[in-house]
Amino acid sequence: MSAESLLHFDNVTMAFGGNRRNPDGVVALENLDLEIRADEPSIIAIAGESGSGKSTLARLGLGMLKPTGGRVIYKGQDLWSMSGDQRRDYRREVQAIFQDPFAVYNPFYTVDRLLRTPMRTFKLAKSKSHARELMEDVLDKVGLRANEVLGRYPHQLSGGQRQRIVVARSLLLQPHLIVADEPVSMIDASLRANILTKLKELRDEFGISLLYITHDLATANQISDKILILYRGRVVEVGDASTVIQRPQHPYTQLLVSSIPRPDPEKTWEGRVEIPLEELTPGADRAGCLFRHRCPHAMPECEITPDYYEGGYGQSVACYLYRENGAAN
Ligand code: ADP
Ligand code: MG
Repeated sequence: MSAESLLHFDNVTMAFGGNRRNPDGVVALENLDLEIRADEPSIIAIAGESGSGKSTLARLGLGMLKPTGGRVIYKGQDLWSMSGDQRRDYRREVQAIFQDPFAVYNPFYTVDRLLRTPMRTFKLAKSKSHARELMEDVLDKVGLRANEVLGRYPHQLSGGQRQRIVVARSLLLQPHLIVADEPVSMIDASLRANILTKLKELRDEFGISLLYITHDLATANQISDKILILYRGRVVEVGDASTVIQRPQHPYTQLLVSSIPRPDPEKTWEGRVEIPLEELTPGADRAGCLFRHRCPHAMPECEITPDYYEGGYGQSVACYLYRENGAAN
């Protein structure tokens, strides 16, 4: 691990509900390696269809789940062996944005209260007027006017306004990393680009990195530097986002990319590739390439889990089709 590591998933595995009959349970994420660097803020997309382990990855990164294998490390410290002070810093510096931004908040709390609570928890404001100043500042950063939203209740706001308030709330804490799990999937297509642009500006203007979790490759392409494609808990392809999306090499990535509707750029892929149910049953065999049952190129060697090979455009691909290119670094 380098000294500049911000958040580091070190060979992380998450299995749910193991028991004697089914010792491995459901493996939601397997041997994940991912390092978000502290010295160059970046946007990393995690993409894959429903059930591929995206939210599990988000919850592991947020310390909401303890991995069953490997370690999640923030600034050199395992999340699960932090001191009180380290944990407090981590709690402030790594913020979450979820799909339904207000689901976790009490509907009877006003926007003010939503913003004041973190300020109180982390003692950010020196006085009442300072608190007001901080609120106005972050609302301004996300393009909202304080007098339009303060004092209001969630139901009095539009979906786009709510999501911006959640972004503003994260900004109050001056985070280093925002973990956003499908942040725009419940927002009207017309507002989506707007929020995504805001998230991108956070990287450029405030040096905040973003772990952008999505089933939508079109938006991933718009804002991300790097992308990981997950299939049933395993990374099948990883690399520069535009390279992977424009020149996908893994047969699964090719399937995902081919389901982005091209004619209407406003419409994005909705991730409705059906997975046969038996593939998702608990304890399903995880030997070999997990995509081979759906793969047009399946070969006998696919019974053995492939390593990562150089995909030809700089990405790494877990597929024997690229074996002659040599191992990816
Ligand atoms: P995604 O966000 O990509 O849709 P998830 O991370 O939510 O995927 O889920 C990945 C797999 O892990 C799924 O098979 C899901 O059913 C399973 N899973 C997720 N959370 C739990 C849990 N708390 N208990 C049991 N299984 C879970
Ligand atoms: Mg999810």
